[in-house]
Amino acid sequence: MNLSDEEEQEVLKVMRSQMLTLLHGEYVKKFEEEFAHYIGVKHAIAVNTGTAALHIAIAALDIGPGDEVIVPPFTFIASASSILHNNAIPIFADIDDKSYTLDPNSVREKITDKTKAIIPVHLAGIGADTKALTEIAEKKGLFIIEDAAQSIGTKCYNKKVGAMGHLGCFSFYPSKNMTTGEGGMITTNDDLLAEQCRLIRHHGEPEWYVYNRLGYNYRMTEIQGAIGRVQLKKINDFIEVRNQNAQYLTKATLDIPGIEPPFVPDYCEPAFNYWIGRINPDILGLTKPQFLKVFPRSKVLYPKPLYETKIFQEKIAYSKGCPWSCPYYGKKIDYTKIKLPVVEKVTQEIFALDIHPKVTKEILDENIEIMRNLSKE
Ligand SMILES: *Cc1c(COP(=O)(O)O)cnc(C)c1O
Repeated sequence: MNLSDEEEQEVLKVMRSQMLTLLHGEYVKKFEEEFAHYIGVKHAIAVNTGTAALHIAIAALDIGPGDEVIVPPFTFIASASSILHNNAIPIFADIDDKSYTLDPNSVREKITDKTKAIIPVHLAGIGADTKALTEIAEKKGLFIIEDAAQSIGTKCYNKKVGAMGHLGCFSFYPSKNMTTGEGGMITTNDDLLAEQCRLIRHHGEPEWYVYNRLGYNYRMTEIQGAIGRVQLKKINDFIEVRNQNAQYLTKATLDIPGIEPPFVPDYCEPAFNYWIGRINPDILGLTKPQFLKVFPRSKVLYPKPLYETKIFQEKIAYSKGCPWSCPYYGKKIDYTKIKLPVVEKVTQEIFALDIHPKVTKEILDENIEIMRNLSKE
C-alpha cells in the first residue's frame, strides 16, 4: 500500500464535511469521472469491491438462470462466483500457455446455445487477447465483461483494458495497482448499461422509494472516493515503478535455467501487478510446493484450476442445487470430468513475486539470488 499525507488530508476533509456517502457528497462522483477519463470510457460506476463490480456487471446484462458464461479457471474465485451470484453457470475454458489468459480457441469450443457472455481476466497486469475474443463475441452475439481487477492501466491493442468489453470491472483492494482499501469500479461506453449498473448498485432505486429492479447496496463510501482520487493521480508513477521492478526481475532471470520470466504478448503494454515466474520442475528438480517452501517470499498464484475447488466439484451454491439444477438450464454439468491440459500444467509451475513500489532493490536482488542458487543446486 502506498498511502501518504495527501490521502490523509483528503480523508480528513471528507470527515469534517460530515458527508460520508455518495448520496450526499461529491468525492465518489468526481472519482468516477476521473477514472472514466483515465480508462478512456464514457462511464465509470464506483462500488464497494471488485466482486460487487462483477456481480453487478453480469446482472446488468440480464444474465441469469439457464445462461452460461465462459471464464478462465486460472483466476481469483470472484471471476466465477459472480456468475453463480446471478444464478448462471460458469463454463471454464483453457488458458494460453504463454500469457496465462483465456485461450480464444478454447473459448470457441465452449460456446453453446446457452452462452451469453465471456469474462476475460487480465492476469497480474498482462492483458488477455481482447481482439480475438471480441471477434468471437461479435460473431456469436455474446457480451464481453473484462475482469481487469489485477490490471489497472494495462493496454491491449493501444486501448486500456476495461475499455474494450461491454463492461469492465476493477478492484481497489490493497494488492491491486491502486487502492481505496476495499473498492471497485465498473466501466462502460454504453449509456443504458451504465444506468442499469447505477440502479443495481443502489437497491434498483432511481428515486426515493421507487424500486425498479432487484438491487443491492454496493455503494462506495466518500472516504474511499477521496482516497481513490489521490491514488489515481499517482497511478502512472506506481505503474512505472512496478514495471521497472518487473523488468529488473525478468532481465536477471533470463539466464537462470529452470526459471522462466513472464511473457508479454505483442498486443499488450503491461501494467505489472505481480511478476509471474514459471518453474521447470524437471530442470530445477523441485515441484511447485517444494519451490514455494524453500522460497517463502514467492506466492502460490493459484494452486489449482477453479473447477477443482470444492464449490465446483460438489456444486455448492444455492439450496436445492441451483443454479445447476435450475429447470431453465436442463443440462448436466460435471466439473469433476473437466480436463483442461494447459491450466492443469500451468498451476503446477507458476509462482508470483511482489513488485509493488515498497519492494526495495535489496529484496529484488535477494529474490534473484535465491532463484539462481536453487537453479544451481
Ligand atoms: C481482486 C480480484 C477480484 C475481486 O476484487 P475484490 O475487490 O477483492 O472483491 C476479482 N477478480 C480478480 C481477478 C481479482 O484479482
